[in-house]
Amino acid sequence: MSTSASRDYYEILGVPRTAGEADIKKAFRRLARELHPDVNRDDPHAEEKFKEAAEAYEVLSDAERRATYDRYGHEGLRSGGYAPNFEGFGSVADIFEAFFGGGAFGGMFGGGGQSRPSGPSQGGDIALSAQIDLTEAAHGTKLELGFEAVAVCEHCRGNGAEPGTPIETCSRCEGSGQLRVVTRTPFGQVMRATVCERCGGDGRVASSPCKVCDGRGRRVQHTKVTVEVPAGIASGQRIRVPGHGHAGDRGGPPGDLYVLIRVRDDPRFVRDGDDLVTAIDVSAPLAALGTTVEVPTIDGSLELEVPAGTQPHEVLVLRGQGMPALRGRRHGDLRVVVNVVIPRHLKRHQRELLEQLAQALTDENLRSDEGVFAKLRRALGGS
Ligand SMILES: [Zn+2]
Ligand SMILES: [Zn+2]
Repeated sequence: MSTSASRDYYEILGVPRTAGEADIKKAFRRLARELHPDVNRDDPHAEEKFKEAAEAYEVLSDAERRATYDRYGHEGLRSGGYAPNFEGFGSVADIFEAFFGGGAFGGMFGGGGQSRPSGPSQGGDIALSAQIDLTEAAHGTKLELGFEAVAVCEHCRGNGAEPGTPIETCSRCEGSGQLRVVTRTPFGQVMRATVCERCGGDGRVASSPCKVCDGRGRRVQHTKVTVEVPAGIASGQRIRVPGHGHAGDRGGPPGDLYVLIRVRDDPRFVRDGDDLVTAIDVSAPLAALGTTVEVPTIDGSLELEVPAGTQPHEVLVLRGQGMPALRGRRHGDLRVVVNVVIPRHLKRHQRELLEQLAQALTDENLRSDEGVFAKLRRALGGS
């Protein structure tokens, strides 16, 4: 506290030397809220500043110390035996509690964690993952999932006692569920409540603990849950199943179950949002003549007409044959990329036919209205 020792206490609190007791208290209260380390996490000096303000308040709020300080300054206080040393006074939280009273700021600053009330608490969440096929993702499915979860003990119904045996008031905390710990701060002693470790905060303990759960009232059990997977789900999406997490403590509500869905790759399709993309082979002569091909769909296959003169990598679209949208009734499309196959390993008579064809073709047959860029874009899949 060497730096704070040199700063004027009135200046620190921002009050005039004539300030009354109430003004000093008000000033510190305002400053303490501003400087609390929990709301200034990015300021490494927050705690130091807070303790500086606390020291100023400690001196100015005490009439005798204030008079000494007014007359002789910091030196006078030192020689008078006053030595502020906040290191031994517990945490900022303790100072706060001494000044503002327990609980007043607990909510505001997210609580110190130490004096948590021993009421019911919600059970933890459980995260699982499951794999499904693309077909299951398209239609929706039900998953039977088995997993280990903390559950209320069925034998004692969660009260921790052997059925038919009494539950008595805890002798350690005399039924309050809390133990009181005294902490020293510059403003006096703080009574801090902690959860009684004997009864776990219940205030009551079983005289003969449940044999199944050792008196804990909860135990890990194998649990089975049926999870509805909605049609249209995609890999990486999570399904929340409320209330199927771990059981709560002391009658608290259970946590939730989260199921991460992984959709297995399907050799027939690539998924693109709600659209599916597939590729079909069409021989060059048939692409020129036009033909009908069978195209795989999620549930089987469909006949697709390939128009005469279809070019390599041209994309034909089957509307509504993609994946259903997760929300709403819309379906994506099935995009069919035409892979035009040029014949290889020609026999003699095949070669002769192609030679005849090649000679018969005119510019009219081979003219393309596309520029080089359009052709390349199509070849690279950017149809
Ligand atoms: Zn039990
Ligand atoms: Zn107890």
